[in-house]
Amino acid sequence: AEDLLDSEVFFQRIARAPQPKRDNAQRVEELLKRMTLREKIGQMTQLEIGMVTTGRDQDLRIDPAKLEKAIVEYGVGSILNVRDQALPIEKWHEIIRQIQEVATKRTRLGIPVIYGIDSIHGANYVQGATLFPQEIGMAATWNPELMRRLAAVAARETRAAGIPWSFSPVLDIGRQPLWPRFYETFGEDPYLAKVMGAAYVRGMEGDDISSPQHVAACMKHYVGYSFPLSGRDRTPAWIPEHYLREYFLPSFAAAVQAGAHTVMINSAEVNGIPGHINRHLLTEVLRGELGFQGFVVSDWEDIKKLVSQWRVAANEKEATRMAVMAGIDMSMVPSDYSFSDLLLQLVQEGAVPESRIDEAVRRILRVKFDLGLFDNPFPDPSLRNQLGSREAQQLSLQAARESITLLKNEKDLLPLSKSAKVLVTGPTADSLIPLNNGWTYVWQGSEESLYPKDKLTIRQAIEAKVGRSNVVYVPGTKIVRAQGGPSNATPTDIDVEVDIAAAARAARDVDAVILCLGEGSYAETPGNITDLTLGEPQLRLAEALAATGKPIVLVLVEGRPRVISRIADKMQAIVMAYNPSNEGGQAIADVLFGDFNPCGKLPFTYPSAPNALVTYDRKAFETEATSFGNVPFKPQFEFGHGLSYTTFSYSDLRLSRARLRGDEELEVSVTVTNSGKRAGQEVVQLYVRDLVASLTPPGKRLKRFAKIHLEPGQSKTLTFRLRRDDLAFIGLDGKPVVEPGDFEVMVGGLTGKFTLE
Ligand code: BGC
Repeated sequence: AEDLLDSEVFFQRIARAPQPKRDNAQRVEELLKRMTLREKIGQMTQLEIGMVTTGRDQDLRIDPAKLEKAIVEYGVGSILNVRDQALPIEKWHEIIRQIQEVATKRTRLGIPVIYGIDSIHGANYVQGATLFPQEIGMAATWNPELMRRLAAVAARETRAAGIPWSFSPVLDIGRQPLWPRFYETFGEDPYLAKVMGAAYVRGMEGDDISSPQHVAACMKHYVGYSFPLSGRDRTPAWIPEHYLREYFLPSFAAAVQAGAHTVMINSAEVNGIPGHINRHLLTEVLRGELGFQGFVVSDWEDIKKLVSQWRVAANEKEATRMAVMAGIDMSMVPSDYSFSDLLLQLVQEGAVPESRIDEAVRRILRVKFDLGLFDNPFPDPSLRNQLGSREAQQLSLQAARESITLLKNEKDLLPLSKSAKVLVTGPTADSLIPLNNGWTYVWQGSEESLYPKDKLTIRQAIEAKVGRSNVVYVPGTKIVRAQGGPSNATPTDIDVEVDIAAAARAARDVDAVILCLGEGSYAETPGNITDLTLGEPQLRLAEALAATGKPIVLVLVEGRPRVISRIADKMQAIVMAYNPSNEGGQAIADVLFGDFNPCGKLPFTYPSAPNALVTYDRKAFETEATSFGNVPFKPQFEFGHGLSYTTFSYSDLRLSRARLRGDEELEVSVTVTNSGKRAGQEVVQLYVRDLVASLTPPGKRLKRFAKIHLEPGQSKTLTFRLRRDDLAFIGLDGKPVVEPGDFEVMVGGLTGKFTLE
């Protein structure tokens, strides 16, 4: 394996927006001059148009009457997911062709539609596409170059279907593990998310976004969406602005730098202000400070929700005015024409200036020109066989392997011998659904019949590796879809016992137990939970197995850290797999039996109790005992933690200077040695701690990382460079402050000190 660059060197290299091949600004202006107000407002409208069955062959097509109304009558500029199910690529070609024929041939100006879709972990709405681990697993690889390459695969396979725009990446920071979209994030750390997110954008958009290999990215959900007080989706967050800027904004700022063409807005509210009317964030910060030049799309029906949910507007007309004036350029409507009709009235009455409309349309047309849609809006049939190439699937397997995080390995239980007899059990052992989670073929990821037949569950991959005769499979418990969970509109997962006693009996005849626990699949609101603790039947299964005295390897397949403290001490080994996707079964088997040496590192703090939710960058005193008896906070597993089958030792931490002045650089070097018997990869993590600051300083903050490969006995010396602005924090006025004083640098258990002047 090749070594990865210093995270910052990598970031600096990718975080620059490429210049479009031709200057499209003039083409935009010429077109804009010819447009009527109706046509302009049409461009700002995004609709969903359902499918109908037509003709003798029961062919599914977009409802032609609805399409006609949308595009010819209303001049709608964008369409999204016509049907919540993955379609064959030929079908996508027909749909896109049908839409673009109407848009380009049946309208006065022939402006192509920009079709958008959620390619969240690969082109997950195109049958046969390459899927890769959900973002939370990608974060655990700490391998941004791999992220870039997989995003490029997702882009190529999405565009191959004729779709030029993906609603990804999610750049929200996962600091509230109850939140059902936690798995869509790169975890809790702003720096890791910034580097991974920029890599994702770069992979999606490439150096030439007009090429048939790339799509426009959509940064989402700007900003503060991921930190609801209650943990429930689309509920209020309270985030003081300096913390918003410290923790939640950097990933978006970096993605803007990397050239992202579009952004989607936080469906919820921060500090009592719904995302969709927050002019300060949407215009002053996003445009004025971050320099974003693309267009802003609302989230699903969110202008209507300003009335029905948030109650900041008495009626939809008022809501439309507020949102457009705050900075919404395109409204994801998605099912009626009130946005278009009301906005037209507002402009005619002078409540919204036409200059604001022009500004929005200019941005939308610019993205369409940059994407090359005016030159060729139609899908390219020759791209059909771009899907699911061997090479792309290998890359996905590599990501799944690199994500898997070995959290515990008592007495080196792992890797297991291939001649050992094992019991495979638990509700996530024999299904591809939990390996993938939501946004997989259908929104909730729950349609078993849509999953590829040639991909292996954990059980199947283990059987293929060690032979069927060595494997006993007993499910013990299962996860079922049923009505009556926290969301009463949509069926959600519940845990039920199948036969725990049978699993425990089977354990008696084997050498080791592979216990696969975790979650089923969910997306957005239906994934709300009220308790982070793993389901009771699963815990009882674990306890019954532990009572047999057999060594147990716990494999967690889950999109957020479900609390396992009741059983953790009884498990000899614990492997975190996140949602590794379709190659996950194989990757897990490879790790369990030693064909791959694990190297993933937790991208979040794994809590030990449902109400003990603190991140790694907590205040230093929180992990210290206080004189009046405060018990130090102790998570189940720390952020950045992850074991290997070899050992790494750190030595010779050196700082190039003891005092840092002006724009000098501080070089921090460290030597890492593989002190064990196997080759392996290590993620070297550099943290900085500000000892005294005017706003209570975090105990440590991640500033750099690098992933390296070491043969047994091999050493490498790495040098990281820190600058003055790496030592800044956001002050109460919302601006970075650098305060002179003493700092510590921490790498792999070693600490160095320096003074900032
Ligand atoms: C989600 C977005 C998604 C959109 C379109 C919304 O409900 O919040 O993340 O992009 O639907 O599918």
